[in-house]
Amino acid sequence: MACVETWGELLFDLHCLTKGSAKKTFRQGIRYSFGGLCAYCRCKRATTLDHVRAKCKGGSNLRSNLIPACQECNHSKGSESWLLWYQQQEFYCEVAKELIEEWIANKRYDEELDGTNDRTEVRLKPCSI
Ligand SMILES: [Zn+2]
Repeated sequence: MACVETWGELLFDLHCLTKGSAKKTFRQGIRYSFGGLCAYCRCKRATTLDHVRAKCKGGSNLRSNLIPACQECNHSKGSESWLLWYQQQEFYCEVAKELIEEWIANKRYDEELDGTNDRTEVRLKPCSI
């Protein structure tokens, strides 16, 4: 398996020996997956990970729900629906939208493959905002 859904999997498969390094490797892998650039505007360095579906709207911490984003895009999007927000941006691009949709779809593909996702289960937290 080339891609992992949670930092916990890196720990589980002993790619990483500590929780801290597994988290770091996991987040870095996502950050550089769009060439190190923000997946939305694609002109700034991705310094944050955006929850495609906001946590307070039930979004998970799984890889497929985390997209590399620059500070500006992450902040501007907030907890809005990513597609609605993205389509209103002047840097909107059809191809980039498809890439993001493929990224999100990766999760569904994995679930169909093994049927169980007990290792990737994330408890939903109430909105903290
Ligand atoms: Zn951006």
